[in-house]
Order: sequence, then C-alpha cells, then structure tokens
Amino acid sequence: MFTREDLRELAAVECETPLLSVYLNVDPREHTTEEYRLELRQLLKGALGAAASDDIAAVERFFEHEYDWSGRGVVVFSCASDPFWRSYSLAVPVVSGATVARKPYIWPLAALVEAYGRYAVALVDRQELKLFSFSMGELADETTFAGAEVRRLKKGRGSSGGAGRRGGAPVSGRHEEEVAQRNIREAAKVAERFWRQDRPQRLILAGAEPTVVQFRDELSKALQERVIGSFRADVNMPELDIRERSLEILRHVEEKRKAALVDAVFTAAAKGRGGVIRVGDTLGAAHEGRIQTLIVARDFRRPGYQCTNCRYITDHSLSDCPC
Ligand SMILES: [Zn+2]
Repeated sequence: MFTREDLRELAAVECETPLLSVYLNVDPREHTTEEYRLELRQLLKGALGAAASDDIAAVERFFEHEYDWSGRGVVVFSCASDPFWRSYSLAVPVVSGATVARKPYIWPLAALVEAYGRYAVALVDRQELKLFSFSMGELADETTFAGAEVRRLKKGRGSSGGAGRRGGAPVSGRHEEEVAQRNIREAAKVAERFWRQDRPQRLILAGAEPTVVQFRDELSKALQERVIGSFRADVNMPELDIRERSLEILRHVEEKRKAALVDAVFTAAAKGRGGVIRVGDTLGAAHEGRIQTLIVARDFRRPGYQCTNCRYITDHSLSDCPC
C-alpha cells in the first residue's frame, strides 16, 4: 500500500545521473495487458537518449519478469548507477508517462495520495453500521456495530386485526422507529470513535436515503464536515462494490476540484491579477518565484531555450541574458 511515508522517502531522493520515472495505467477495465505492454514500449522508446539504457532495461525486466499485472496503476523509479529502484502497484489508475530527471517525478503520486489517500465509508441501515477505512483504494481497516433488532412491520397486519386494533400499527411502528433511532445514534458514536482512531480525511456515507440523512444528523459537526458524498446501498453490499462506488465519488470530487482550480486561474488571468496562462507568462512567473500553484497537462511538451549564463528558461530565443 503506497503511503505518505513512501512519498516523503521519494521526495528526498536525488541522483547524480538521470533517474527514470515511469507511470503506467494498467486498468483492466479499459485495455488489455497486451495493449499496455505496447504502450510501455512506446513510453520507453520516447525516453531513449534522455534515460540511461540500464534504467530502460531495468524497467523492461520488471514488467517482463516481476510484475503480475494486478492493480490499476504501476509506478517505477530507476537510477541504476546509484543504484536506486522502487516499484509500486496501485489499486487506483494513473496517467501513463515517462519522465527523466535528477529526482523521482512524484507529483502524480502526490496528487493520488491527496485524492485517494485515507478515507472511510460508513454503511448504515436501521440496525447496523459497517465502517471501512481505505487507503489508495485498498482496505486498511474495518469495524462493525449491530444494534437492537428492528422488526419490520408487515404491511396491512395492523389493519387486518379488525375492529378495535386500529391504533395497533402506529403504536408498534413508533416503537420500531425509536429502536432504529437509538441504533443510529449509537452507530454515530461508533463512527466518531473510529474517526478519532483512524483519522480518515474524508467520509462517504452509504445506505438507504432516509437512514443516511438521520445518521449524518447524529454525527458531530467536525465529522459532518468530512462527508464528501453518499450512495445508495444495502447493508450487505460486498466490500468490492463499496470500494468501487466510493472511488467513483472520490474521482468525481477530484475532477471538480481540478476544474475549479483551472477556472480560478483563468479568471485571475482575465482580471490580470493573481494568475497567468500560457507558457511565456508562466515561465516568467516561475522565474520570479511567484508561482503558488502550477497547473500543467501531464504530457505537455514544447521546445524551449535556457540561458547558459543564468539558467533562465524561455519559450523563445533571446540574444541577450535578460537578467
Ligand atoms: Zn541569463
């Protein structure tokens, strides 16, 4: 399971020679293994020249002999001359790409940890609660709570009792409602304890809609603020399905976050305050050390120039050092 600790370790790595970082999406829902092998070959071909041949060979060997093609994303880092090697199989998809630099290219992993790291799903009904804690799409912890039995009223039973039983169903119904309410309140307490212990960053609720709403109302304000979405589910939904549904919600939240970020930059650029777009202005802002958030497409490529004197990077040829 890839964690923040792994990320911290990678962030500290620096090699004397170029280090090859390869991300390969291997989501079996999208393409076949053969197609992914082909994509890998193309990625490595693109890295030829910039990457050391030993590193390309090491990555090829890994995919040929070691990796079992499980999971949805693979990330490998290789610097054979150091020697440095790391491989991670992830339960979440990645965007494929190869990067050669002095340091591991970790930003996509950092973004994945941000989007899919440590979250919990609370599956509730009127009697039970199941709590799952996931990290990067893998189950990390779980706990269950079973309250008092809530008898389900058979429809028409109260009214079929004949004269004098008219009030029977509502009275019994009220009792069942109280039992359910108590169960939900207890379940919320269990969720609070689970949260304090596991510290998931986000919470997703699952169950029948009225129960989910009741459960949410019983949570503390702090925990309510962690709720990022909900889905309909039966309390016996298999863990695999819960994971799929919750990953879908996280992906959606992440897409929305990215779109909002891009919007904010375009708005700021249009106002001419707090944001710039396009390569030239972005490089200018970078040079002045004024970038707070940089948004760049994973595969963006454009030829450029670098001043041999001050290392200034620009997208057009300059005859003089601009500094
Ligand atoms: Zn210069």
